[in-house]
Amino acid sequence: MFTASDVLPYADRLISLRHALHREPELGLDLPRSQAKVLEALAGLPLEITTGRDLTSVTAVLRGGRPGPAVLLRGDMDALPVPEESGVAYASTIPGVMHACGHDIHTSAVVGAAHLLASRRAELAGDVVFMFQPGEEGQRGAKVMIDEGVLDAAGSRVIAAYAIHVASTVLPLGVVATRPGTILAASDSVTVTVHGKGGHGSSPHLAVDPVPALCEMVTALQTMVTRTVDAFDPAVLTVGSIHAGSAFNVIPASGTFQATVRTFSPGTHRTIQAAVRRVVRGIADAHGVRVEIDYQANYPVTVNDPAEAAFALATVQRLVGPQRAVQAPQPVAGAEDFSFVLEQVPGAYLMIGAVPPGTDPATAPMNHAPQAIFDDRSVPEAALVLATLAAARLAAASPDPSSPDSSSPASSSWDSSAAPGSAAPGTPE
Ligand SMILES: [Zn+2]
Ligand SMILES: [Zn+2]
Repeated sequence: MFTASDVLPYADRLISLRHALHREPELGLDLPRSQAKVLEALAGLPLEITTGRDLTSVTAVLRGGRPGPAVLLRGDMDALPVPEESGVAYASTIPGVMHACGHDIHTSAVVGAAHLLASRRAELAGDVVFMFQPGEEGQRGAKVMIDEGVLDAAGSRVIAAYAIHVASTVLPLGVVATRPGTILAASDSVTVTVHGKGGHGSSPHLAVDPVPALCEMVTALQTMVTRTVDAFDPAVLTVGSIHAGSAFNVIPASGTFQATVRTFSPGTHRTIQAAVRRVVRGIADAHGVRVEIDYQANYPVTVNDPAEAAFALATVQRLVGPQRAVQAPQPVAGAEDFSFVLEQVPGAYLMIGAVPPGTDPATAPMNHAPQAIFDDRSVPEAALVLATLAAARLAAASPDPSSPDSSSPASSSWDSSAAPGSAAPGTPE
């Protein structure tokens, strides 16, 4: 339905919106200024708009001119508590807060997709739900929006959902990557607190020392991973913090450690949650200490539906050419709350390179770094990809064979110097 030239009339406005969002980044679930900017940018379009109850989300529904199902496009809006050092002219004016993960681009791209799709509304064979979500960076904003009904906003459950994430490293500008199955890890956090009985360092038999128990737990957890987890379905468990005691000759009453756990399949995710509890409790029993385990499963594995990932890749390849739309060779150990959407409906999560030309993608500062720079040209590119995915998916679901589709190859105006062989997913969260 779309070609690269279709987005050009919108590019300047979308990039201006991106700069405005970038200058005024906000954190978490409460993003009133970002929400206002999105509402202003959507004003005048034929959309049914609702805003969130427990978060400053925006849900917009575009009704196609022809009957059909609904599909969903997601854009996250939140920033990070990172002091910006990018040096760009539109840098953050909020101290200590930066759009270091490029969500300003995602928001602007979904606005662009809304404009593009609205311009072809009569041809659309169904509805499009635009999901503008706060709180991706750890606050489960997507889950809150699902609970508030975003997947059914068009009146029926969406049949497919898509999101795209920019990468400030690895992927050259404009190169899109996705893969079937797991694309991002599950992310858990564990806090273990061991309670013993404090005493004199000279008389451990009169105390209950939590320190040896803590130490055994840390090493036993590493052994547990190697003995429990399939080498071809891996897990990472890192104890990043351990604290006990205050003096060399005092046995402390308690101690604690914290770990992050990353897994790539729902099966290993379940296995390791149970194994962490079993190992920690067993060692606590052996030492006669009491233990508290706070295991937080933060975000589940992000799993692309194989058919949707294949459809998305083929559709984007027709749009930008096979050299600039590639299958990612492996998942990334970052995590995403779009995983909650993909647990409910089929869909695909894609990544797009935003490395500025002249910067080596291999060494460019990564997402979340204070120096990360995301090229403006990724905004219209991502808008075009999202609009094309929505239109093509509705066309594919249409029983009407005369329904417009996106099968006509289109050339792109973007940098074509990308090296396809080097393409691999970037690193979101
Ligand atoms: Zn992100
Ligand atoms: Zn992030």
